[in-house]
Amino acid sequence: MQVIHSVDEMHRTSEKLRSEGRTIGLVPTMGSLHQGHLSLADLVKDRANTIILSIFINPTQFAPGEDLEKYPRDLDRDLNLCKDRKVDIVFVPESKNIYLEGHSTSVIEERFSSGFCGLSRPSHFQGVTTVCAKLFNICCPNIVVLGQKDAQQVLVLKQMIKDLNFPIEIIIGDIFREDDGLAMSSRNAYLTREQRKDALFLSQSLQEGKNLFENGIFEIERIEDKMRELINKGKLINLEYLKIVNRETFEPEKIAVQNQSLILLAARVGDVRLIDNQVL
Ligand code: AMP
Repeated sequence: MQVIHSVDEMHRTSEKLRSEGRTIGLVPTMGSLHQGHLSLADLVKDRANTIILSIFINPTQFAPGEDLEKYPRDLDRDLNLCKDRKVDIVFVPESKNIYLEGHSTSVIEERFSSGFCGLSRPSHFQGVTTVCAKLFNICCPNIVVLGQKDAQQVLVLKQMIKDLNFPIEIIIGDIFREDDGLAMSSRNAYLTREQRKDALFLSQSLQEGKNLFENGIFEIERIEDKMRELINKGKLINLEYLKIVNRETFEPEKIAVQNQSLILLAARVGDVRLIDNQVL
């Protein structure tokens, strides 16, 4: 496994691989890897000859006062996990080399970036689209693997890829969960025992929403109300949003439809912000 820190070296390497006809699969991450991240690398194994996993805690997607400084970092552990998972190249650039002094260009996706997570994090998706455009230019992937865990991010990046004519196919990986249902996230490491207990109401409410739907309850309001009731049991939870939307447009729905409706939620448990979702 190769570990590349230099942006130029990564660019030269990926261009060479492409000129040799190799198919590159890219898994962009911010590190502190868990099984969810690694499952994304597995998804592209059969489709790509070279798997690049990038580890970059992108400062432009954090607003001032968010958790950029304390975001968990453990590169040695991450590299060992990547080696075990047969990742070919780990790209670990430094911030000052991704954002050169005086950089003044951003990518803004305007249709899907402003609602939901964009309401409480107005600059977040601009940071995501900008860094992903850069990673795509540097790593030249044929395929990019993204997690359904960040459903809005998937929608925003799909739109950017289409709008900016990136010749890239997207593969979406399912949400990987802990045994008790909590969606895996690097931010789970922040949770105290009490907070983690309450956080379980989030995944349980999504399961409850799915159960109600499968038992013939299709009115969105009824499903959302029942879910809120359950979430309210978590005294440490401050729900930011809970909405059932069309998964392609993120427009609110009135009646849930199989494989089309998506339950989205974001909440703070104590001061830890968590997101999760469930396709019906
Ligand atoms: P992050 O390191 O949080 O930026 O995530 C990097 C990628 O891993 C994104 O595409 C996420 O959607 C994906 N991801 C994060 N958590 C999970 C999970 N629990 N299951 C599957 N994919 C995930």
